[in-house]
Amino acid sequence: MKIAMIAHDRKKDLMIKLVSAYQHVLEKHQLFATGTTGGRIQEETGLPVHRFKSGPLGGDQQIGAMISEDELDMVIFLRDPLAAQPHEPDVTALIRLSDVYEIPLATNIGTAEILIRGLEAGFADFREVVHETDNKPLSL
Ligand code: PGA
Repeated sequence: MKIAMIAHDRKKDLMIKLVSAYQHVLEKHQLFATGTTGGRIQEETGLPVHRFKSGPLGGDQQIGAMISEDELDMVIFLRDPLAAQPHEPDVTALIRLSDVYEIPLATNIGTAEILIRGLEAGFADFREVVHETDNKPLSL
């Protein structure tokens, strides 16, 4: 599976803890991330990560483009709901596209853990079916 990881600044330490705790699961998948988040994951866990631009410079939009091309299966987006983001429209757009294409999306650590445990248990395997249906959301 292809998984995107994004963490706002005050959530980056939490992202590192999450990735470290579930490294045994995540190392079996392909990781993608916005620039700074991806750099920290690589440095602090050693996992390979395809890094896009930093979020405020277009990284969220690059990840959104992957979703629309059926190139992502899961998004872990640790948002900071208590800080204004200069790229708030991009954040909203990424969440919207995840919903359009029905990509499993976590926006906080609680849901992120459940998604990763579900990934480990094979609950995300339905994504293989989506890949076989011309990238149409299942509800269409
Ligand atoms: P960053 O971007 O990983 O480059 O910090 C995340 C974001 O703020 O969207």
